Amino acid sequence: MSAETEVPAATPAATGNFLWSLVEGDLVSGKHKSPVTRFPPEPNGYLHIGHAKAIYINFGIAQDFKGRCHLRFDDTNPVKEEQEFIDSIQRDVRWLGFDWGTHLYYASDYFEKLYGWAEHLISNGHAYIDDQTAEEISANRGTLTAPGKESPFRSRSVDENLDLFRRMRKGEFPNGTCVLRARIDMASGNINLRDPVLYRILHAHHPRTGDAWCIYPNYDFAHGQSDSIEHVTHSLCSLEFEDHKPLYNWLLDHLPVPSRPEQTEFARLNITYTILSKRHLTQFVRDKHVRGWDDPRMPTLAGLRRRGVPAPALIDFIKRAGVARANSVVDIAMFDACVREYLNKAASRYMGVLKPLKVVIENYPEVQSEELDAVNNPEDPSAGSRKVPFGRELYIEQDDFMENPPKKFFRLSPGTEVRLRYAYFITCREAVKNAAGEVVELRCTYDPATKGGNAPDGRKVKATMHWVSAAHAVNAEVRIYNPLFTRPDPGADGDPVQDLNPASLELVEAKLEPALATANVGETLQFERLGYFCRDADPGLVFNRTVGLRDTYAKTQ
Ligand code: ATP
Ligand code: MG
Repeated sequence: MSAETEVPAATPAATGNFLWSLVEGDLVSGKHKSPVTRFPPEPNGYLHIGHAKAIYINFGIAQDFKGRCHLRFDDTNPVKEEQEFIDSIQRDVRWLGFDWGTHLYYASDYFEKLYGWAEHLISNGHAYIDDQTAEEISANRGTLTAPGKESPFRSRSVDENLDLFRRMRKGEFPNGTCVLRARIDMASGNINLRDPVLYRILHAHHPRTGDAWCIYPNYDFAHGQSDSIEHVTHSLCSLEFEDHKPLYNWLLDHLPVPSRPEQTEFARLNITYTILSKRHLTQFVRDKHVRGWDDPRMPTLAGLRRRGVPAPALIDFIKRAGVARANSVVDIAMFDACVREYLNKAASRYMGVLKPLKVVIENYPEVQSEELDAVNNPEDPSAGSRKVPFGRELYIEQDDFMENPPKKFFRLSPGTEVRLRYAYFITCREAVKNAAGEVVELRCTYDPATKGGNAPDGRKVKATMHWVSAAHAVNAEVRIYNPLFTRPDPGADGDPVQDLNPASLELVEAKLEPALATANVGETLQFERLGYFCRDADPGLVFNRTVGLRDTYAKTQ
């Protein structure tokens, strides 16, 4: 069998981007038998939709080419990392539909190995202990145009360096006394190669290794070596690591590592009206600008899930946004469109009224009520139908009535006839007002011959409206989410907190058809003519609006 025939084909949806082609090429050429990738989050916050792109790439490649993808926690900074984040990350990756099997790893599992490799560098004269302060190190690093200045401690002997490094590990020095640096080139055009810091002293409790360590490797010293230990073939990361690649390779070149991974970069996902930076998201949570990491206004996976966004819609969005090397910003309207498209097929329809206006059907008997047949999903006949109660008193949307309608308004107004979905034609006879002159009730009549929503005489109406029976309706709190920011490029003028939208959350007391009282938490449903909504786990009956039926960004831009 030739090498070509052994290569599993990528799924059609995934092919056509440079990363899939790269992996495919490496399999075809025989460089690798099967790809090993990894998703390496730092457990210092919840995952966001940008991470979903990295997850899709790494797990997607493993899936499509029958390789494997590791979940590796990059837990080298004990000060910011928490078990809550480790748990949420695992939950979110699973929710997206991916599975690491037995391949769950922690950079902290390699601390002993990494320490040994640090001694190896020292022994070969490739690393030294620097007693300069952090400020001095940074001042002596030079600039993009000027070379750096060599540390006065750079020529310490191997023995002295080994002795100091061992004493660092033993805890003899307080935080900040000294660091381990690679001895590379203070004049390098790449600042990452100007004797980068590899280890620092940090007397801090680590969620996994406890108090075993008081020195911790930094990202660069942990990442490539962890990839190598795990026999990762393709180390795929976002573009900000491009300048770190020479250091990644330098370390692999100078250490007795078991395998040679190769780093390739792709562009981060950026979306209008959205901040994808853990630092800022942490700030929004800490300063209570939102109600937590899983607030449905947050771009976190936990927030999107709570809002009712189905994982397949999110993956579809990531695929359509594309995988490339060039940075770009994707329109949030495209995300909403993907969610709508998925839910249009999947979501069951119900009726709910967000801004209720009472309607009394004067010729409908007071004691009577009936159950009418309603279609659950016109896009999916197998979803069947349900019964909706109808009675003399109903609620319709306030917006569906106008006392003095302009020409193009075809919904209810005095004297007009409209269809109540699944029910009857009704005609408005009178608008009852309160002392302030506001319409508080409509007196209407219905035509009993139009049951089901069609007139036997063939007469037409121009509008079909949703409604709920007042006697049967259940009350619910509906949380309407608007964009979290007032501008498409939040933070462009500094702190994104200044761009937060004060109207990002609207609370509405809604009247819903009774079947919604038993809706499942987390199941996204359509409220006809209004949008998609998802029951929240909060006590009582609470729904989050996932997305409206139409694009609302177009007019805010
Ligand atoms: P943030 O910038 O939000 O703090 P991060 O890069 O510090 O994120 P990590 O936990 O280090 O967060 O990220 C894990 C992986 O996710 C990294 O490989 C990173 O490249 C990738 N990633 C993070 N943000 C994005 C994004 N917006 N688009 C694509 N990949 C991303
Ligand atoms: Mg990072």
